[in-house]
Amino acid sequence: MAKLLSPDCRQCRREGCKLFLKGDRCTSKKCAIERRQTLPGQHGAARKRVTEYGLQLREKQKVKRAYGILEKQFRKYYEEAERMKGVTGENMLSLIERRLDNVVYRMGIGASRSECRQIVNHGHITVNGKRVNIPSFLVKVGDVIAIKENKRDLEMFKELKGMKIIMPKWLEFDSEKLEGKILALPTREDIDLNIKEHLIIELYSR
Ligand code: SF4
Repeated sequence: MAKLLSPDCRQCRREGCKLFLKGDRCTSKKCAIERRQTLPGQHGAARKRVTEYGLQLREKQKVKRAYGILEKQFRKYYEEAERMKGVTGENMLSLIERRLDNVVYRMGIGASRSECRQIVNHGHITVNGKRVNIPSFLVKVGDVIAIKENKRDLEMFKELKGMKIIMPKWLEFDSEKLEGKILALPTREDIDLNIKEHLIIELYSR
């Protein structure tokens, strides 16, 4: 299976913003973006002129890297968003936000999206009572997301018990029951990444 191979912090430095790829480290002083603002590499500190195409490309890479999505799948989200009613860029972000690995992350079950992808891959999550091990699975309103009953005693989940978790308003998660629900579909304002999605749409419309 194809993978994104760049080290996490290097990806953030390349995009010039926090992509929150390393859990707790991202909110600590150890965050590479806090310590060094330059681009990675030998000539990272040199100022470069950025073309319009370059700006559009960077916005797309930002989203792909933040959510850990490869090009082929990313384009599918764009194509599906284009077929939907409404604003294509917002539809695209909403679709991506509905991925099961992202929902597990937003519910606070894992510290980063990559950790949550592993949790889903390893079959620790159920949707409406059935095990789902596909990170790109799209949730819908009313779906019940839970940690599989026979996995709840794993150390990584035990510490979740009773924890107060802050999450977007379209989700709820009961940290006693280790079970949550999709209350609504995510809207643009629920997505906290600093993304200019219209630039991505312009890029694909070229
Ligand atoms: Fe590294 Fe996280 Fe900071 Fe990005 S946000 S540079 S992944 S620590």
